Amino acid sequence: MALDAANVGIWIMDAASRNFHPSTRTKALFGFLPEEEMSFEDALLKVAGKHRRSVWAAVENAIKHRGNLYIECPVMIPPQKRHRWLSITGGFNTSDETNNYFSGIIVDITEQKQNDLRRSKFIGMVSHELKTPLTALKAYVQMLNNWAKKQKDSFSIGALSKVEKQVKKMLNMINSLLNLSGAEAGKIHLNKQEFAMDELIGEVIEETLFITSSHNITVAPCDRVMVNADRDKIEQVLVNLLSNAAKYSGKEEPIEVNCSKDEITLTVSVRDRGMGISKNDMKKLFTPHYRAETKETERISGFGIGLYLCSEIIKRHQGEIWVESELGKGSIFKFKLPLN
Ligand code: ADP
Repeated sequence: MALDAANVGIWIMDAASRNFHPSTRTKALFGFLPEEEMSFEDALLKVAGKHRRSVWAAVENAIKHRGNLYIECPVMIPPQKRHRWLSITGGFNTSDETNNYFSGIIVDITEQKQNDLRRSKFIGMVSHELKTPLTALKAYVQMLNNWAKKQKDSFSIGALSKVEKQVKKMLNMINSLLNLSGAEAGKIHLNKQEFAMDELIGEVIEETLFITSSHNITVAPCDRVMVNADRDKIEQVLVNLLSNAAKYSGKEEPIEVNCSKDEITLTVSVRDRGMGISKNDMKKLFTPHYRAETKETERISGFGIGLYLCSEIIKRHQGEIWVESELGKGSIFKFKLPLN
């Protein structure tokens, strides 16, 4: 009664035979009547097309490794053909390997998803509005700076390059917020073109040095590597990794960038000798809004979205991104892109 009152559906599945027993509420959440049969396959067919495979894989994976299941997916509810978002949680209630009962609950999270979507549309709109005047500001500051250089006015040159640095920092933040709202709506559009990765790395390093001048950034000699990818988005990944390396390490500590390739992939790495990351934090760094909470990081500002965006961008390129790190010794962030 409590579960019904809370609108929670329950289900049990025999992991060996895959016999599935949904409660009446679970059937209703998938759009079935109480008297209708609903097998696991019937439920899966209601899941919106592009999510179906990942739901199936998550269930199979949880059963295979006797792990926990947590997925969020949209299901199609006729006749309105609108999406209902469900969160599905499950697991085995004992570690006894002979127990095959895999069970869990289902909750309707449509309203929460709609709120998330509204929030991310709002962030997208605000950041778009902020970006326009800031872009104009950046152009005028650059013009003024050039003019001051011609006049040999050293005070103005110094002051204007400080303004330019801050404007660039702000534009990077706004671009991240803009991309966040796109990524949350599942809309990272790639505009692929052929470009030289070594050249892009050089440009990003120059830009990072302009903003955080105190670090010593070195690049291991890197052959000419042409890739077919979205140049602006890969630039954003590099900017994020390099500015994190500078942010989370001491001022004089070196940062090394490396770029290598084999026949099918290109690997870029950014290594710092800074504070490092704990094993527990490493697992979660690429999720939205996650920030490691230590005495050292609480003084450093950030939104916790940079690495999430990096991972979404790299995933959209069919690549991989990961981190290797040791607390107190430093971190190395690497990403791989398919060359073809
Ligand atoms: P932000 O830096 O804005 O908080 P990110 O998504 O870029 O957001 O990074 C998420 C978290 O990962 C950071 O808050 C920090 O705790 C950790 N992190 C990222 N890069 C490094 C690094 N090079 N060294 C140590 N910790 C890092």
